[in-house]
Order: sequence, then structure tokens, then C-alpha cells
Amino acid sequence: EQSPQDVARASNPLPSVKHVIAVGAGKGGVGKSTVSVNLAVALARSGAKVGIMDGDIYGPSLPTMLGTDKLELKTIGNMIVPFEMHGVKVTTIGALVEDDKPLIWRGPMAHGAFKQLATQTDWGDLDYLIIDLPPGTGDVPLTLSQLLPLAGAVVVCTPQKVAQDDAVRALKMFEQLDINILGVVENMSYFIGNDGVEYDIFGRGGAEMMAQENGVPFLGSIPINMGLRKNSDAGDPTANFEDSKLGEELMNVAKRLT
Ligand code: ADP
Repeated sequence: EQSPQDVARASNPLPSVKHVIAVGAGKGGVGKSTVSVNLAVALARSGAKVGIMDGDIYGPSLPTMLGTDKLELKTIGNMIVPFEMHGVKVTTIGALVEDDKPLIWRGPMAHGAFKQLATQTDWGDLDYLIIDLPPGTGDVPLTLSQLLPLAGAVVVCTPQKVAQDDAVRALKMFEQLDINILGVVENMSYFIGNDGVEYDIFGRGGAEMMAQENGVPFLGSIPINMGLRKNSDAGDPTANFEDSKLGEELMNVAKRLT
């Protein structure tokens, strides 16, 4: 019997994209979009051609995080033309809707929009396409698994037990969809105070242990960092790489993926 990924491999609508990587999380607010954006910028800084798609159709945060608020997506024929920010090509549903309007869509409309972004974007040649998924185990990952052949999925998790339980559900979902797990990223792992002390606010190492217990790779730990938060709000991820320690952690996560 053919799996959704077998179908996607046979009909691959994006043959000029080498590796499609989905970024998921068990629940919202753990830093999935933050990791997606910084991973994309880190891969681009290491010399790869990178695109990022905002697949979080109900809560697109890429426009803010990449500073693309004022830009509009263009189309040529039936293809969407991504715009370029911080060395990364970007498409987002956020560019299709007004800032302060909630996306109250029926399932088929949301899926239509997701499908269009996933299959009708003119990326050109890419080494990596990062797809920021909605949180949880909804039906968008299922839709994606039928549309594009994936190199695999990254699961973002904070160290706390409750976050781990949800992340395990996300891991199981990807396994069920026949999607390779590239690994787990522990976000908000610890905090370095002005005193130089590392505080394990949420219990550093929890997500790493969860990865080990589930037999999937661990890709690295990202600390709680005020600059990271500020740069995200300001749409300037490039600034994260000017902080040598944070930049190094972010580059390491990208390196372990490649
Ligand atoms: P998700 O995509 O999982 O819902 P976000 O990436 O939108 O989560 O992150 C939620 C909020 O937390 C954002 O405002 C983001 O800037 C902030 N944030 C995420 N990770 C960190 C971190 N390591 N340090 C500081 N702030 C962070």
C-alpha cells in the first residue's frame, strides 16, 4: 500500500527544491516559529539557498519575525512569487490577510490556501525549504504529507513535562505519516543572568531526555534570550547572529540538520 509520502514523491510539485523540512510542535507558544526563522537564516548564512513558508495558517507570525509586514505577495500566472528577507525567500499567508483580522476560515478554505502556498510558489532552486506548521497534531501535517516529499520534520519543545508529552504526540504523528524525524530542538532551555549564572527555569535537558527516550536525534538547546525576543518582535533575525553565543547555538542546530 502506498503511503501519503509515496504519493507525494511520485507527483513532487517542487522538483527544484532539494530538501523540504517541516517544523512542528506539540503545542503553541514553545517557539516553533522562532526556531523556523532562525534555522532558515542560519542555513542561509552557511551558504545554502533557503526558503521559508509560513504554514501556520491560523496564526502566521513570520511577517512580524522577518519584518515583512508591509510587503505583498505577487503572482505570475498561477504561481506565487516569494519575497526575500535576510537572505531567505519567504511566503506567508500573513501577506494575504489584513493584520488585525482573525482568520475565520472553514477547513477547506484554510487547506486550499495552505495547499496553494505549498505547491504553487515559484521558489526557483532551493537547497532547503522550511515549512512552519501550525502547532499540534491537526490535519495540516496530514495535508502536507500528501503534497510534498519531505526530508523530514523537526519538533520544537520546551523542557517541561507537559510540553514533552505534547511533543511526543507530534513525534508519533509524523511517524504515522511516514515522515522522517530529523530531531528535537529544546527551546527556552535555560537563561543566562547578568550574573553569568545559567538558570534552568523550565528544567534544562527535559526535551533532550525525551528525544533519547523516543530514539530520535537531539539537535540542540536554545536559551531564553531577551535579544532573541526583541529581534523577533522587530523582524530582525540577522541580529541574533551578532550575539556570539546565541549565534553559535543557532548555527549548531542548523549544522546538525545538514
Ligand atoms: P510558536 O511558534 O511555538 O507559537 P513563537 O516562536 O511564536 O512560538 O514564540 C512565542 C513567543 O516567545 C514569541 O514572542 C517569541 O519571540 C518568544 N520566544 C520564543 N523563543 C524564545 C527564546 N528562546 N527566548 C526568548 N523569547 C523567545
